Amino acid sequence: MRSTLFALLAIALALPAFAQQSMKPEDTEVWKPVPKVVTPGATDSAPPSDAIILFNGTNDNAWVSAQDHSPAHWFVHNGILTVNKQDGNIETRQRFQDYQLHIEWKIPKNITGSGQARGNSGVFLASTGPGDDGYELQVLDAYNNPTYVNGMGGSIYKQSIPLVNPSRPDGQWQSYDVVWTAPRFHPDGSLQSPAYVTVFYNGVLVQNHFQLQGQTLYIGKPFYKAYDRAPIKLQAHGDPSAPISFRNIWVRPLD
Ligand code: MG
Repeated sequence: MRSTLFALLAIALALPAFAQQSMKPEDTEVWKPVPKVVTPGATDSAPPSDAIILFNGTNDNAWVSAQDHSPAHWFVHNGILTVNKQDGNIETRQRFQDYQLHIEWKIPKNITGSGQARGNSGVFLASTGPGDDGYELQVLDAYNNPTYVNGMGGSIYKQSIPLVNPSRPDGQWQSYDVVWTAPRFHPDGSLQSPAYVTVFYNGVLVQNHFQLQGQTLYIGKPFYKAYDRAPIKLQAHGDPSAPISFRNIWVRPLD
């Protein structure tokens, strides 16, 4: 009896190896679903065929005031979008959950000021309401401009220092390419899964699947507050330096 049991056990242990040896290459090939074909843009910064264009140089119709949702009144000229500090923050009409975002921005030539008062703006990856801080990827002159490093250009504001500083000097166009995974919440508002963000700054990885601790607060410790889908918001910061500009903004929803 005992020897039979041992024999059966030996066979059972040998089975996986036997199964492995008896497999064909085709057994581990996956053929469906076939990823849909997307035509890339002419350059890697140009929008691919399935992108939603948020700004292509002609108008700011995709954007509204973050305060009252009236039409945005930032300045559109020569194909670029410049912050109107009097008009306040603007956000997309459309709401998003997970997405890939491309956005280009320029600190004006001969920018004045220092630290947080030198070309401060921001890309809020989810704008959760005018009274909320949301989730800010900092935009700020980071070229020879010392400030607290968890608030420098390329940081997730007051949460994550960029891995490196690939900034260009004032007067030159720079870019962010972002992969945003939105947080999820239970029906009772408690956190189900946190937000994650990956950021390439001028093509260089500066945030690698960083797990956010909550909203990016100016004061205090971050915390999560339940929301569903949210607009993307651009910051009209009140610092006295000259306003910055944006161009070529597009997004690919991932959900
Ligand atoms: Mg900012």
